[in-house]
Amino acid sequence: MISALMPTFNRADLAFERGEGAWLMTADGRRFLDFGAGIAVSSLGHGHPRLVNAIAEQAARVMHVSNLYRIPQAEALARKLVDNSFADSVFFCNSGAEANEGMVKMIRRDQARRGHPERTRIICCDGAFHGRTLAMLAATGNPAYLDGFGEPVAGFDHVPFNNLNRLRDAITPETAGIMIEPIQGESGIKQADPHFMRGLRQACDEMGLVLAFDEVQTGMGRTGKLFAHEWYDVKPDIISVAKGIGGGFPLGAILATEEVASHMTPGSHGTTFGGNPLACAAGNVVMDELMAPGFLAHVRKVGDALGAMLDGLVVEWPEIFEQARGRGLMRGLRCRPPVATVLNAAMHEGLLCVTAGDNVLRLVPPLVVTEEDCRTACARLARAAKAMLAHEKTNARTVTA
Ligand SMILES: *Cc1c(COP(=O)(O)O)cnc(C)c1O
Repeated sequence: MISALMPTFNRADLAFERGEGAWLMTADGRRFLDFGAGIAVSSLGHGHPRLVNAIAEQAARVMHVSNLYRIPQAEALARKLVDNSFADSVFFCNSGAEANEGMVKMIRRDQARRGHPERTRIICCDGAFHGRTLAMLAATGNPAYLDGFGEPVAGFDHVPFNNLNRLRDAITPETAGIMIEPIQGESGIKQADPHFMRGLRQACDEMGLVLAFDEVQTGMGRTGKLFAHEWYDVKPDIISVAKGIGGGFPLGAILATEEVASHMTPGSHGTTFGGNPLACAAGNVVMDELMAPGFLAHVRKVGDALGAMLDGLVVEWPEIFEQARGRGLMRGLRCRPPVATVLNAAMHEGLLCVTAGDNVLRLVPPLVVTEEDCRTACARLARAAKAMLAHEKTNARTVTA
């Protein structure tokens, strides 16, 4: 019989009762080091006192009023995001897919209002992940995700990641914009080349296209800058953000330049929940922490240290780990055995990670992790590697015997 909770996920048989910083605890007292952070979401770690208090206090005052009224918490958060980015204006929603949907609407509207209603198509990359709504499935383009859900929503073209010539060739009179992840997360922590990123900006300027970055996973400090595109010194016209922005509370956002945002007049887009006082109370704490002196420098320092430790694991356990990738606290380890096996072996050693495409084990800990936490995580990965090799040898002996 089907489970009451719809079985769309392969869940580990673990339930956590509480968390503290980078640690999660089960009811029976087992402690796990959390390098998955709920898929790059719990940016301030678990049980962060300021975040917990802000949510509790706001919940007691007023959680939701709708966007029919002013929401000071949303105004304050938008101001902080604008003051610290390329953007002039922000729209709040509830998830990454919803942010991307709104972003595509804004790209199309910008073209329509500038006299090009025929420009509706968005160029995306192979290996992209933009979410699970009908349009974002088409933008993602992964056949496995589209299977059984009918005709993909029209308007999305795909080119190989990091191939500027193929991207330029794909631009047609109907192209409205380009939507790219600066580091592809779900498909295996693949970084955009600086040359590719600069070329995107150039192509958009030449052809009058809108440059959009999906920073749902890479944004909000994950790579050691507030947004990953800052590493490339390339200014987008619009970006989407979600995952880490609420520190675990559902919140998404679209950040745009005035040029793009100015076409979004009253009634052009909407949301019931988006940007409510409770979600924005959480978002304000996250943003304040990220912008506090030294926070992003901490992410860069610990991220570099983690990167070096992962390189060490590749040298030490070449039969298990093939390559380390990533930036800041968005890291990946390409594995030789199936990554699901490595994930389970790590879990057995008390380390939680996430899988990604390309047989990559994804390490996206809370941004507050310490170097000591990273050493513990890597020691656990080494133990997992050792256990996997011992297991392989036992199996080999059994087969020979
Ligand atoms: C997770 C993710 C999404 C989808 O976010 P949801 O909140 O699950 O809808 C979109 N884009 C990227 C890059 C992501 O990592």
